[in-house]
Amino acid sequence: MPRAPNYDLHCHSTASDGLLAPAELVARAAANGVEILALTDHDEIAGLAEARARARDIGLRFVDGVEVSVSWGGITIHIVGLNIDPASARLQQGLQAIRQGRTERAKKMAQDLARVGIPGSLEGAYAYVDNPNLIGRTHFARFLVEKRYVNDVKSAFQHYLVSGKPGYVPHEWATLQDGLAYIKAGGGMPVLAHPGRYKLTRSEMRKFLGEFKDGGGTGIEVVTSSHSAEQYLEYAILAREFGLLASRGSDFHGPGESRIDLGMLPDLAADLKPVWHDW
Ligand code: AMP
Ligand code: MN
Ligand code: MN
Ligand code: MN
Repeated sequence: MPRAPNYDLHCHSTASDGLLAPAELVARAAANGVEILALTDHDEIAGLAEARARARDIGLRFVDGVEVSVSWGGITIHIVGLNIDPASARLQQGLQAIRQGRTERAKKMAQDLARVGIPGSLEGAYAYVDNPNLIGRTHFARFLVEKRYVNDVKSAFQHYLVSGKPGYVPHEWATLQDGLAYIKAGGGMPVLAHPGRYKLTRSEMRKFLGEFKDGGGTGIEVVTSSHSAEQYLEYAILAREFGLLASRGSDFHGPGESRIDLGMLPDLAADLKPVWHDW
């Protein structure tokens, strides 16, 4: 049987919390055998033009993407938008508002960290920020590693940056309805990112998927670096049951920080209808 084309539809550049510039990311993807790449920075589309230009130069197919942060039922959920229109004013304004919220959250995170004896984290995190409009927890994590409070980014999250820890600040992102609307405003396809990462019971996940579909959500990541082999099966079952298109994306952030490199995930199960079936 011929191999499926190598699609990687989820990754991050320095326009959000990735370590590689958009053009470098595209070159790495091509070197890894990726044939169709989507750049999906958190709440930001500023890296797309550079990525698209490099992809054109080296003959890689490029998909304009974004990963939108939304709040639903008290938790944060990420919705990837594929084939979005970067020129959409609705999309641009929606993302701008989410980024503004990130800037305010960052100040509160720094105050929290200062209270537990970690000074200078706002400036320290911004030292890792390439795009001044987009700051996230990963930038704080890199600062905490640099100052030896922890040994690696993963531990920075475990000890400081997740719910219940001193650097964690609860945050209201966009609503699910608005996040879906931003993606669809440009004609994009909303895809639920890494469903296995959310602290939802099975019945809560089903409730979410119902609302997601009702709001125009059409896809679900089945094969992502966040999932175990068992979860590939678990979310394939949900994709079939809910009639959602299946996606494959590494969620690559950078060499040394990501478990799985661009384009290196297993293929989707052959019977799943992929997000790219009519591209
Ligand atoms: P934010 O959107 O700023 O709240 O940060 C979310 C980002 O933090 C994710 O996209 C990951 O890049 C990173 N992240 C979240 N949890 C972890 C973790 N346990 N280990 C490493 N990185 C994480
Ligand atoms: Mn990230
Ligand atoms: Mn995510
Ligand atoms: Mn991501």
